[in-house]
Amino acid sequence: MDLKNYIREVQDFPKEGIGFKDITTLLNNGEVFKKTIDMCVENVSEFDFDVIVGPEARGFIVAAPMSYALSKSFVPIRKPGKLPSETVSIEYELEYGVDKLEIHKDAIKKGQKVLIADDLLATGGTVNAIVKLIESMGAEVVGMVFIMELSFLNARDLIGDYNIKSLIKY
Ligand code: AMP
Repeated sequence: MDLKNYIREVQDFPKEGIGFKDITTLLNNGEVFKKTIDMCVENVSEFDFDVIVGPEARGFIVAAPMSYALSKSFVPIRKPGKLPSETVSIEYELEYGVDKLEIHKDAIKKGQKVLIADDLLATGGTVNAIVKLIESMGAEVVGMVFIMELSFLNARDLIGDYNIKSLIKY
């Protein structure tokens, strides 16, 4: 099954020049969605972890069913102001300006092993910030998994020496 056949590319969204990889067409096929999550699970079988972290919003779609399948904790990472209890946050640079992500302070304990899951690895800026956030809490990032990777953006150079898995490369 070639997952690429189920991903719709929308040109110039959300702005001109971006070829947006739309996974809603993949999610809309129950068998293909299940296969995608199964493949993510298989890809991380060699990693030892306690927690799967997923960033809002499409990261939830990958991380939560993986957590369910593996009986691991799921921890959401959210945009500012969404999490109700005490948070720790990290700011990171975008092409224009800065963005911020938050996690509940008590969601990950010192020494825990963490897997990060998201739909797409582009520049790596988002996941790089998430790695720093998790490590600042005294936890260890053992790997990360993505449905898609835009290889031409060279995120692996930015992220550095971590275990990075992706099902589809563009
Ligand atoms: P980055 O921080 O550049 O690696 O961007 C990663 C985040 O932006 C992911 O969570 C994606 O959901 C989203 N994203 C970036 N580029 C695209 C794209 N071409 N199509 C769909 N989503 C994208």
